[in-house]
Order: sequence, then structure tokens, then C-alpha cells
Amino acid sequence: MNKQDFNDGLLGFLDASPTPFHATRNMAMMFANAGFEKLDEVDDWELEAGKKYYVTRNDSSIIAFTYPKNELNYLMVGAHTDSPNLKLKPNAVIKEHGVVKFGVEPYGGLLLNPWFDRDLSLAGRVSYLNSDNVLESSLIDVQKPFAVIPSLAIHLDDKANKERTVNKQTDLCPIISTNEDFEFDEFLRWQLDKVGVVNVKNIYANELSFYDTQKAAFVGLRDDFIASARLDNLLSCYTGMLALCSVEADKPMLFIASDHEEVGSDSTSGAGGSFLESVLKRAFGDVATYTKMVRSSLMISADNAHAIHPNYPSKHDAKHTPYINKGVVIKVNANQRYASNSETIAKFMRVAQELELPLQHFVTRSNMGCGSTIGPITATRIGIDTIDVGLPTYAMHSIRELAGSEDAHQLYKILVGFHL
Ligand code: ZN
Repeated sequence: MNKQDFNDGLLGFLDASPTPFHATRNMAMMFANAGFEKLDEVDDWELEAGKKYYVTRNDSSIIAFTYPKNELNYLMVGAHTDSPNLKLKPNAVIKEHGVVKFGVEPYGGLLLNPWFDRDLSLAGRVSYLNSDNVLESSLIDVQKPFAVIPSLAIHLDDKANKERTVNKQTDLCPIISTNEDFEFDEFLRWQLDKVGVVNVKNIYANELSFYDTQKAAFVGLRDDFIASARLDNLLSCYTGMLALCSVEADKPMLFIASDHEEVGSDSTSGAGGSFLESVLKRAFGDVATYTKMVRSSLMISADNAHAIHPNYPSKHDAKHTPYINKGVVIKVNANQRYASNSETIAKFMRVAQELELPLQHFVTRSNMGCGSTIGPITATRIGIDTIDVGLPTYAMHSIRELAGSEDAHQLYKILVGFHL
């Protein structure tokens, strides 16, 4: 796939995936279109060599894999479906001071300031009892920009540009209307109706997140950059998914995108949970085969990397300064916040070198803390040799992040290149 088609598809995927649920559904559709057969964890599995499969958990994590005969040395690619956001509280509606607003709970380590004065919408999963007395869940996406968190005017806070802080409980409630007749249940039924769900008896619960309605876009004089919400880590989801769709069914490859990375990965659908291990055990039978498979495979944990910010260069180690559009970043941390080791790095570098693609290296400053990824968690949980790589990014965890228009396609070429 050429770079332009790759990037155009990326923008569409970003816009169509406001929540992990939507990202997972879109990836499932993509895998189905590419000939992967759907599995369900509650069914019996009879896997056939030569076929390709995918399976989801909690509607928010997905595993897809080829299943060639007698091949155990898998290339695995791991990413995460979630991004920091503002989640609706269970009793969300607040009516005061002439408006209707929603109570929200920040999810993950988000930059709070960029959420002010944006045209917001809401999406996620709603769980309800249908008219046949069966519990169901459906995804909704309001799409319309119907909510906003207005800034406090500078006239009312003369220290706004010096020492304004954001109180997560009181300052971040999106306002949605001046019509205080608003009924939340009615609103949800309307949204369900829009996706064809009309047989709703009782709505019980929801997991809904606010998102910015501004579309992903190329920016820069020569379209140097891609600006979007959720580049961390839908950029890697998209790249890993397309790489797996691009290899032949006789090449051993697996892709996993997990939820809840931004809050530590400990959940049924997070990388700290049992999803990958249980899928591998079902696919590779006895303990010996499973262990051989895990120990002869390689996991590439793909998550975004901090590009050196041109206005804050002192935040990087001067010898490890990833630049935008200068190639995929290999991430190293002596304290195992990243899982890369010399052997996994060598395997990755060899493929990039054969393809004549540049690579960059990142280690955090020794006097600063280091983020982590699903890499060490998966390496610990499964026992698979792992490398952490990523695409250089500015403004990570902002409502609008910035990455290069060259780098993701290069990662795609390297991932596919493992099987050339
Ligand atoms: Zn991430």
C-alpha cells in the first residue's frame, strides 16, 4: 500500500473511532473484509491451518492472527485502543445556573487545558434490556458537536496566563443546553434509535466519552504533519492492523490491540489481563507447544514516542532526540519501563536496515520519570521477547496530537518486511 492511500485511510480510521469500542468494531470490520473469520470466546473453536481469525473481548480489545501449519515463530504486534478522555459519570446530568451540563470523570493522564472551548460530542457503549427481556449493548455516536467546556474569561481571572490550574471536579463539566427540560434517558433512546435500536425497555448503564469533533487533518506547509485526537495509540492500531492484513496467510503473524493501557492495563480487556494468553493457549494446545510458540516469537509493542519539542528541547536527553518524519523510534529503559533488549532491537534493526529505512532511539532523561507501555506488561504476562517502538509525536495526551506524515507508513513497511 502506498503512503498516500495509507495516510488517507488513517485519517478516516481516526475520525470513525472516537472510543475503544468504535476502534475495535472498525478493526473487526477491516479484518472480516480481509478474509479473517470471527471467533467468539464463549464458543468451541476448531481452528484450521491456513485460515485467519479474529476475536474481540469486551467490545474494546481485539486479537487477529494467521494460522499457518506447523509455524510457531510468530511476529506479534501490540497496541492499545484507549486514549485519555472525559468520561460521563453515572448520574451525569446537572441543571444549574441556566444550563444543563454533564458531570465527567477524567480517564487516563490527559492534558486538561486543551479540552476548553472545543466543539465536543459523545460516543461509547449503552447497555439495556430489550423488549424480549434480553440484555444487550449497542454503540452510539452523537457525532453532532453539542457540548462545550467554555473557558473562564480573562477579565474574571487576571492570573489566568500565569497560574490557572484546572479543578477536575468543578471546572470541566461540558454544557449542552439552556433548555432545562432535558431528559437523559430520552436522549439515549434517541441515539439508540439512530443506530436502529428501537426495542429498548430499560436503559441500565453506559460508558460514554467526550471527544473533539474536529476531524483529523494534514497540516504543515507540505502536509508534513497529521493532527488528530487519539493518535496515541490509534496510529499503531491502524498500522499493525494493516500490516497483518498485508501478509500472506502462510506467514505466522498476530495483532493485538488492548483497552485500558492509559490506566495501567489491569482489566479483562487490558494487556495485564488474560486475553492474549487464553487465545494462544486455545490456538496452540498443549503446554509444550504453547511454550515453544511463545519463546520463539517476537512481540513488537507499538506506541507513540515523544519527539523532541522545538520549543522545549531541554526535556530530552541530547543524544536521544527523535525528530518528526525521521523514522520509527526504538525505546529503551534500563529499569524495564520499556521491554526492548539488545536481541529484540537487533531483530528490528536488521529488517529496517534491509529496507533502508531510518530508525531513531529514545531514552528518557535520567532525571525524569519514564512512561510505560503494554510492552513490559505483555512480556511479563506471557514471557515473550519484546521490543518497544513508536512513532514520534508532539503533544501526547492532548485533545489534538501531532505526528509526522512519513513515519507511520515506514513502521508499516518494517512490520510487513519481517515476512519478506
Ligand atoms: Zn500510548
